[in-house]
Amino acid sequence: MRLSRYFMPILKENPKEAEIVSHRLMLRAGMIRQQSQGIYSWLPLGKRVLDKVNAIIREEQNRAGAIELSMPTLQSAELWQESGRYDAYGKEMLRIKDRQDRPMLYGPTNEEMVTDIFRSAVKSYKDLPLNLYHIQLKFRDEIRPRFGTMRSREFMMKDAYSFDLTREGAEHSYNKMFAAYLRTFDRLGLRAIPMRADTGPIGGNLSHEFIILADTGESEVFCHKDFVGFDIPGENTDFDSVEGLKAIFDKWTSLYAATSEMHDEAAFNAVPEGDRLSARGIEVGHIFYFGTKYSEPMGAKVQGPDGKEHFVHMGSYGIGPTRLVPAIIEASHDDNGIIWPASVAPFDVVVINMKVGDEACDDTCELIYAALKKAGKDVLYDDTDDRAGTKFATADLIGVPVQIIAGPRAVANGEVEVKDRKTGARETMTIEAAINRFVA
Ligand code: ATP
Ligand code: MG
Repeated sequence: MRLSRYFMPILKENPKEAEIVSHRLMLRAGMIRQQSQGIYSWLPLGKRVLDKVNAIIREEQNRAGAIELSMPTLQSAELWQESGRYDAYGKEMLRIKDRQDRPMLYGPTNEEMVTDIFRSAVKSYKDLPLNLYHIQLKFRDEIRPRFGTMRSREFMMKDAYSFDLTREGAEHSYNKMFAAYLRTFDRLGLRAIPMRADTGPIGGNLSHEFIILADTGESEVFCHKDFVGFDIPGENTDFDSVEGLKAIFDKWTSLYAATSEMHDEAAFNAVPEGDRLSARGIEVGHIFYFGTKYSEPMGAKVQGPDGKEHFVHMGSYGIGPTRLVPAIIEASHDDNGIIWPASVAPFDVVVINMKVGDEACDDTCELIYAALKKAGKDVLYDDTDDRAGTKFATADLIGVPVQIIAGPRAVANGEVEVKDRKTGARETMTIEAAINRFVA
């Protein structure tokens, strides 16, 4: 992508409305724009990051055996009347009427809809277990939307829903998502700790929130500090192994970890003082097992091996991609801007032409740009006529992991500078060596 032809509206001034660093940096880097309170457009740079986050979420959901579909944002109120949640949900639900005066709503979550899909098609235990997910916009009319896309009214959620014949089966389905979540957050460069959580309006009896420790987090959390160093389940994790996944779940729940709603002061005080971590956190994922809470009122049942009908045991599993993007920034930035983990960086590398119009600089940059693109890299080429200082500031602000800097002096020697955004380390090398770094 040539920056001169891209759309990346950088702000020079710090936006006054932004209270936390991620919100400030997302606005300054031109990643998002507020359209009305708690409702955002994702501008091209932000969209790139969001897409990469979603791609990782999708890969790990698929690896764990979940199957993607797509459900609509608008739902009929009827379904919610069946489950009994239409009245219970309260003011967070945006209720709408269509031209025939039929009550509709903008989905805050999809338990009812997915249960409806399930009951229309699945009749036998032989079709179980089943886990269906989508990545879709949700709307919750939050009383206090704030911190940009961290807590917005319209936001994206990956929500998965599992169906099993028995409670034991449902626990295995829960453990699959538990392990998949550990892997997902790790690949996003985050350390998320599963904590026992309240089930809230979703209901149910087994629930964990995945929390990232951050000073700007809205939740108060308490945990054993050893979680920070625990091993993440590997790529070769066998998601069909009941014992294997149970072992992962047991290990990751073996020490104290709870959000304030579930906090047990006495149990926490039993943790040796030096091992106690009392901190603030950001909830990036939340998983629930809620048994037959929806399948019973909505009549979602299958025939079991005993020939009888059984209400299915369900769980639901949410991750917030539009919250994850700012959460990653909260965890990874410095005074100059964002520092993206390579896995979600909007571009792999930025090529900075320090003197556009200088033939040697232009030729060198074009050569590198073409070679890296050919190697399948996402490359941003800063071919604008901005001053070098502005270009450096922009490259640091948008947090691309590697910068290749072509200035007249180095280029005259057949060299460029390669800068690592995270460490700030700069290395001078031949043009060929710079290209070869990316062309494996
Ligand atoms: P919170 O306690 O932060 O209000 P929640 O418990 O209501 O969230 P869930 O129903 O558990 O949210 O939703 C699953 C995930 O969706 C959350 O873990 C979070 O990542 C994301 N999410 C929920 N509400 C919002 C929001 N208002 N803005 C952005 N992401 C959200
Ligand atoms: Mg939650």
